[in-house]
Amino acid sequence: MERRDIALINPKYLTSAVEAKQYPCEERPEIAFLGRSNVGKSSLINSLCNQRGLAKVSGAPGKTRTINFFTGELRERVDGESTRHPVYLVDLPGYGFAQVSQAERKRIDAMLYDYCTTRSTLKTVFLLMDIRRDPAEIELQTLQFFREHNIPAVLTATKADKLSKNEQATQLLALASFFECSKDEIIVTSATKKTGREKLLQHLSACLSV
Ligand code: GDP
Repeated sequence: MERRDIALINPKYLTSAVEAKQYPCEERPEIAFLGRSNVGKSSLINSLCNQRGLAKVSGAPGKTRTINFFTGELRERVDGESTRHPVYLVDLPGYGFAQVSQAERKRIDAMLYDYCTTRSTLKTVFLLMDIRRDPAEIELQTLQFFREHNIPAVLTATKADKLSKNEQATQLLALASFFECSKDEIIVTSATKKTGREKLLQHLSACLSV
C-alpha cells in the first residue's frame, strides 16, 4: 500500500495588509481562513504548521483587523518520494465581532470583500465555525458569497474537543442540515487535540496539486 505523508513546512510570517497594494505578489497559490472572531483561526494555522506562536492567538476577541500572510511549503512524501508546493496561508480578519464601531466593521468588510474578489491566486477558503454554536445567517451568506464568486469554500467546525463524541455527531448533523450539505463535507477540527489536521492537509494538497 502507498505510504503518503503530508506536512506544512518552513512556515513564516510574511506581512500584514489592509489594502491590495500591501499584499505580496501573486506568485504562490493561497489558502485563506475566515470566520468569526475567536473561532480559532490562528490556533488552527499554528496547529497545521506545527508551530505555536506563528499566528497570534488572541485572548480578547476581535484583535485581528489586518490580513496576515504566512509563507510555507506543503511537502508530500509518497513512498519516500518528496514534492514541495510553495503556498501562502492567509489569516483573514474575523467578522461578527459586536464590539467594534460601525465604521470599523465597514472597513473590515470592505477589506474582506476586496481581498476575496480580486485575489487571483486564492484557491480555497476554509470557513470556520465554532462547533458549539448554531450557525447564523452570516455564515450562510458568506458561503453563498463564495459560491457566487466560484471560490471553493470548505466548512470547518472548530474546538471539537469542547464537546463529547455524541455531542459532536449531533452538532455535525445540525450543521449539515443548516447548510444543506452532507456531513462529510464538513471538517471537524480541534487545534488542541489536532483532530481533523490530516483531513485539512489532504484538502490543501488537493487544492495545490491541480
Ligand atoms: P481567532 O480569533 O479566530 O484567530 O481565534 P484564536 O486562534 O486566537 O483562538 C481564540 C481562543 O480559542 C483562544 O483562547 C484559543 O486558545 C482558543 N482555541 C482555539 N482553538 C481551540 C481548540 O481547538 N480547542 C480549544 N479548547 N480552544 C481553542
